[in-house]
Amino acid sequence: TGKFFVGGNWKCNGTKESVDKLVSELNSAHLESDVDVVVAPPYLYIDKVKNTLSARVEISSQNSWVGKGGAFTGEISVEQLKDIGCKWVILGHSERRHVIGEDDEFIGKKAAYALSENLKVIACIGEKLEEREAGKTTDVCFRQMKAFADSVPSWDDVVVAYEPVWAIGTGKVATPEQAQEVHAALRDWLKNNVSAEVASKTRIIYGGSVNGSNCSELAKQEDIDGFLVGGASLKGPEFAIIVNSVT
Ligand code: 13P
Repeated sequence: TGKFFVGGNWKCNGTKESVDKLVSELNSAHLESDVDVVVAPPYLYIDKVKNTLSARVEISSQNSWVGKGGAFTGEISVEQLKDIGCKWVILGHSERRHVIGEDDEFIGKKAAYALSENLKVIACIGEKLEEREAGKTTDVCFRQMKAFADSVPSWDDVVVAYEPVWAIGTGKVATPEQAQEVHAALRDWLKNNVSAEVASKTRIIYGGSVNGSNCSELAKQEDIDGFLVGGASLKGPEFAIIVNSVT
């Protein structure tokens, strides 16, 4: 697999003041050079972050519109994101799936459009607690993977983020074994349904209650190629610890 990849998803948090503080913490932190580091600020602050954060860290959006911009009140287009310097977009995040109601097909279309415009995609998947308890973890994850696979022309610019919904924002991190098991299954799925080359090259990162204390055990797992971090990415020094957990 490629470089270790750590993304910070700031979600709908922050103010001008807290964003300035976080940017200055990140600018003064040591970030291992062989790690791809990306942060996803709320739309409103992307321009500010782009202009103040070290260019060593790339910028992601947390979402994007499904097609070309136009009469879509309240939406933000891929063209606009590129215009202000975004290189990435997070798509299929569980909060968009389960709080906002985006479905597999809509998310797949968004991924196809973003990639067609050269925006790289962090493709999120993951099962809910009741799905895990019903033994449906891989069914759900494979269905969500298939929706991406059916839509994306190439996996070169895609990072897969496995984020079990029960672990997001709950403090209940998946154990290294639980995460590794699903990551290995996802890599196998890519091998069987896309190609061996894509399976070996595509980074599969873990998200859900990752913090400065649990990251190194997770990072040691063979099929964990990085992290997508929510809460702990709002603290510069802790986010740096997670970036530097690369093994
Ligand atoms: P937490 O790290 O806050 O659990 O959030 C994970 C996440 O959803 C990242 O996209």
